[in-house]
Amino acid sequence: MCGIVGAVAQRNIADILVEGLRRLEYRGYDSAGIAVVDLHKNYTRIRRIGKVRELANAVATSNLIGGTGVGHTRWATHGVPSEVNSHPHISGDITIVHNGIIENHQALRSLLQDRGYTFVSQTDTEVIAHLVEWERRTATSLLEAVQKTTAQLQGAYGAVAMDSNDPERLIVARSGSPIVIGHGIGENFIASDPLALLNITRRFMYLEEGDIAEITYDNVNVFDASGQHVERAVIELHAQQDAGEKGKYRHFMQKEVFEQPTALRNTLEGRLTHDAVITESIGVNAVDILNKVEHVQIIACGTSFNAGMTARYWFESIAGISCDVEIASEFRYRKFVTRPNSLLITISQSGETADTLAALRLAKKCGYMGVMTVCNVAGSSLVRESDFAFMTRAGAEIGVASTKAFTTQLATLLMLVTALAKQQKRISKAKEKEIVQALHALPEQIEQALALDKDIKALATDFADKQHTLFLGRGEFYPIAVEAALKLKEISYIHAEAYAAGELKHGPLALIDADMPVVVIAPGNDLLEKLKSNIEEVRARGGLLYVFSEQKSGFEAAHNMKIIRMPKVNEITAPIFYTVPMQLLAYHVALIKGTDVDQPRNLAKAVTVE
Ligand code: GLU
Repeated sequence: MCGIVGAVAQRNIADILVEGLRRLEYRGYDSAGIAVVDLHKNYTRIRRIGKVRELANAVATSNLIGGTGVGHTRWATHGVPSEVNSHPHISGDITIVHNGIIENHQALRSLLQDRGYTFVSQTDTEVIAHLVEWERRTATSLLEAVQKTTAQLQGAYGAVAMDSNDPERLIVARSGSPIVIGHGIGENFIASDPLALLNITRRFMYLEEGDIAEITYDNVNVFDASGQHVERAVIELHAQQDAGEKGKYRHFMQKEVFEQPTALRNTLEGRLTHDAVITESIGVNAVDILNKVEHVQIIACGTSFNAGMTARYWFESIAGISCDVEIASEFRYRKFVTRPNSLLITISQSGETADTLAALRLAKKCGYMGVMTVCNVAGSSLVRESDFAFMTRAGAEIGVASTKAFTTQLATLLMLVTALAKQQKRISKAKEKEIVQALHALPEQIEQALALDKDIKALATDFADKQHTLFLGRGEFYPIAVEAALKLKEISYIHAEAYAAGELKHGPLALIDADMPVVVIAPGNDLLEKLKSNIEEVRARGGLLYVFSEQKSGFEAAHNMKIIRMPKVNEITAPIFYTVPMQLLAYHVALIKGTDVDQPRNLAKAVTVE
């Protein structure tokens, strides 16, 4: 959600800032800006509403000179998207960029107005600029002014302060929003995600909660929340630099859908023999905890929640371990009962999802026997704050609508369930082998599903002019239907709902008519016959059906029923497999509708605000 970049260098950095913002575009934003200052204290700020390319065009014609600067993509929380509300914000010599929300901004605004400050924007951020300016008047350094300011702020933020009168340093504060420092040679950088800087450096330092750092071109000094000087490790990242490029694909989402066979191979690598799961690969501390688990509580948001819902079926049917799944923003604000020997599992692509992180921190005080995360980003807050992390290894996911992160989460969770069942001797050798071989077969099967791209593209025309779509599934295909509906909503803006097919007659059947396409996920399993009856209920009411099913499922195409024939796959991995045609459907409908597929309106990639 929104992005920050900063640089202190001995060369002009405007282009680096703009490129960094371009690389952060995937996080979602509505306006962008940069400010740079040179050694002679010449200062320039440029802000634009809309895309980073608008800002880039303005920068290209402005001849910006300066080695110290900050850049920002704003995802408005307080005040409409407008040039005046976009960052950087200024007060006197002080420039501020900020991610997150200052909760006590009203009180601070009144206080600062009483001191004579005039506010030009409606943002909460502007209070930070004026507060730092106020504190700078008496503090011995910009660092001290920022420390005094953050002591007065409530809320979650990552913020960078620059003083144009002292143009060789930046101060950055982290409290709730992720911040990394990129180490260069004779230059140092700041970003809210390493991806912003991967074309410049691979060496990153992750700030911890409450840290404030002073950055010059040859030094990085970090202070913790109590003001103590602290050391933070610098780690080398091996992420591919081209992760930020679309290559031959039209959209990142499309690229990421087609990357799924490779992503899944990476997920499985080193974690399975040809017929068994390697429990130790989950983590050194994991085995001990898995031996004792009696209950699993999953916490997640959005697509990750749908992965958790699918895994719940597996935890109970394969491992015989009870499992609850809850949306993080609900869990964190209700009184819950922790079951004995319960393991808490968070699921998040970014590892920075604010609600999930808050739920984890809360759960740590509530008697869980252990906390683990299923996550895609090494070094993220969830990874660092959990007892162990089972990484999904999907590679960088840029498209806001999650695709490969979801299928790799599912594969990771299925391995975890199998390992848990094995540790507790709740699974036969034969069943373990069946699951492991089904997982091994999955990447190739997904290649077959991707080969349906053309057929699904043709189908998409039926949906693009509709206002609504219903997705049906049963058992573990119900959360897959929920995920399919979410994808369509997110990128095509068509209202979509998912129902457990057996629930249809309890209400939604009233919606069925010729304008309501109904997509049915109908693999060959025990529930197929039941599902067929549900399908007949829709047909009898004039609904238009699109049934994704195996060759031999016995469905016959008719004028109001299209059958999309899928290859036969193992029942257990079928939820992962059937996700792929749903992603393709959403993508092609969005293409026809001409929406912004990679950055759908109003949405952000990593939801780092509450
Ligand atoms: N709350 C700030 C604003 O609305 C920052 C938003 C952001 O994180 O981009 O300007």
